[in-house]
Order: sequence, then structure tokens, then C-alpha cells
Amino acid sequence: MTFFRKNTNCPTSEKLLAFQKAEIPAREIDKITVHLRFCEFCSAEVDLYSHYPQSEDSVERTEIPEPLYELAEALLSNRRREFLERLFAERR
Ligand SMILES: [Zn+2]
Repeated sequence: MTFFRKNTNCPTSEKLLAFQKAEIPAREIDKITVHLRFCEFCSAEVDLYSHYPQSEDSVERTEIPEPLYELAEALLSNRRREFLERLFAERR
């Protein structure tokens, strides 16, 4: 199983999802908003959740969701824009 390393100060995926659904306290929202300004990975992750809301079940899982795995690979090769355009075009 593959795990992606975000920065050590990155919020967890669960927290980013809660952030996207506005289910966390305002103080946490501020913190994450600031983080998203300089972290492309987390920012992309929130983008992804806003387009493809996760079910409660998937939040429980420790595996990285498949689209996010692909996204991370795209980020690593610096092709985020192309990836997102392709992904959204395919699933529309
Ligand atoms: Zn981050």
C-alpha cells in the first residue's frame, strides 16, 4: 500500500474534508485557510472534495482515495492543471 507524505504540518484528510464541509470550528477554518495558501497538495485535495464529495464511509478508510492518488502523482510531475481538466471532462 502506498502512502503519500504531506508536510508534517499538513491537516489530515479527515480534517480537510471537514473543512470543506464547514464542519469544524471557525478557529480551525482560519488555520486551514492559511495553510491552503502555501500548500498545493492540500489545496488540490480540498478542490477535489468540493467536486467529488466523499461519503462518510470513505472518511473512515485509511487508504488514499483513487482520484487523490492519481492527483498526487500528477502533482509530482507538475501536471495538476492538465490532470484536473482531464478528470473533470471525463466525469462530467
Ligand atoms: Zn498541506
